[in-house]
Amino acid sequence: MTRIVIIGGGPGGYEAALVAAQLGARVTVVEDEGPGGACVLTDCVPSKTMIATSVRKQALVDGTSLGVHFTGGPDGDVGGAVADMAVVNRRVKELARAQSADIAARLAAENVEVVRGRGRLLEPGTVRAGDRTIRADVVIVATGATPRVLPGAEPDGERILTWRQMYDIDELPEKLIVVGSGVTGAEFAGAYMSLGSEVTLVSSRDRMMPNEDADAAEVLEEVYRRRGMNVMGRSRASSVKRTADGVVVTLEDGRTAEGTHCLMTVGMVPNTSGIGLEENGVRLDRNGFIEVDKVSRTSAPGVYAAGDCTGVLMLASVAAMQGRIAVWHALGEAVQPIRLATVASNIFTDPEIAAVGVTQKQVENKEVDAKVVKLPLATNARAKMQGFHDGFIKMFCRPNTGIILGAVVVAPRASELILALSVAVQHRLTVDQLAHTFAVYPSLSGSITEAARRLMSPLTAGI
Ligand SMILES: Cc1cc2nc3c(=O)[nH]c(=O)nc-3n(C[C@H](O)[C@H](O)[C@H](O)COP(=O)(O)OP(=O)(O)OC[C@H]3O[C@@H](n4cnc5c(N)ncnc54)[C@H](O)[C@@H]3O)c2cc1C
Repeated sequence: MTRIVIIGGGPGGYEAALVAAQLGARVTVVEDEGPGGACVLTDCVPSKTMIATSVRKQALVDGTSLGVHFTGGPDGDVGGAVADMAVVNRRVKELARAQSADIAARLAAENVEVVRGRGRLLEPGTVRAGDRTIRADVVIVATGATPRVLPGAEPDGERILTWRQMYDIDELPEKLIVVGSGVTGAEFAGAYMSLGSEVTLVSSRDRMMPNEDADAAEVLEEVYRRRGMNVMGRSRASSVKRTADGVVVTLEDGRTAEGTHCLMTVGMVPNTSGIGLEENGVRLDRNGFIEVDKVSRTSAPGVYAAGDCTGVLMLASVAAMQGRIAVWHALGEAVQPIRLATVASNIFTDPEIAAVGVTQKQVENKEVDAKVVKLPLATNARAKMQGFHDGFIKMFCRPNTGIILGAVVVAPRASELILALSVAVQHRLTVDQLAHTFAVYPSLSGSITEAARRLMSPLTAGI
């Protein structure tokens, strides 16, 4: 029987464990926080739970244009709608713990042993966990990553915070400054604004979310500004300090921004130091991420790695797939190398931004030859009925064959709408095939089939 030890119990680790157990291996997961890892306990699951509240509250505000208001609200205002952060945070933590408990139960049902504590590689076939030494035929490192700390802006857990500390602040920050405008910064800034904070977003780049689709980021920035966010572009923070009753953020050009709280979202560093990796031949890149090939092998025989500690694509779904691939490969099962070109992802802003496949940047850089169409949702009947107008469907296809290569959806619940396009990209469907598919009328997905119809037209301009 193959003996597998997995260090880290996030999606990279626990999904690998489940597949390995299913295939008859003897599996131990060493995890220092709890099953589900940072994904479930501090990062993805808590943030999306908090965002569910913020979206619901924003819907109340937006509902005024649909004729909804609370009794007593002046001029159709929602009047007394406030977010009770003690309740919100309690719900966030309880839900995360419940999700972790569900994963623990699933692992137990599959006879996976979970050892609580820090694991470290003693030698390629041996892991030390607490006072135990566990021999293994295969070791999978899935230790995740930790919020990056900017020197001069160290979090104190009270006023200067990482996203992991936000759920311990039971009052709504009155004036929240978010430093960093990547995906995490954009999600938190938008959510706290909808919950009722006055928000300033400090972005070092020209625009928010510089690595995402530029049209989508532009829509979001416009919506955020309209709702009252102060978005400071080209503003690199050099320090964040406490004042008597809040914080002051100093920018590199000397300007300052003052708030009651500051949330730091300046990236992640991999959890790869001090756990015996390099000593045992596991090569790290210059940023400390574990180097892996497309079947999750590291440079050390018998040692695989999965998830955020590899920096391949920091998504839960990718971590899980890397973990499963590691197991399939290690156990000699049929395995396909990881394909990142078909990964679907979503940014949980309001509206959401979902994407799959080829990007506009790849088309503009001439890496990919594609035709593109972008349909605004403002003219979609269902969008009008639901009272929103910020969003679009963008689709890319091969100029001659019409094979769908990628898409971007900006809409409420874009995370759900993207699946049809993921199926199309994964299975190389053509715009003709999608155009001949029935969509419900009225629906947002009607704009997906319409985009496909537009791309069928010989008149559609190539990019
Ligand atoms: C705020 C935020 C929101 C996100 N939202 C989404 C989202 O909506 N969708 C999405 O797909 N992705 C999202 N992500 C990314 C997602 O959370 C990560 O890609 C995912 O957690 C990676 O899984 P993992 O298994 O690599 O690591 P993790 O989930 O980080 O788990 C690794 C675990 O290993 C433990 N560990 C570390 N070192 C050791 C050791 N030596 N011994 C024992 N245990 C150890 C850690 O404590 C941790 O619990 C989000 C990330 C952040 C920060």
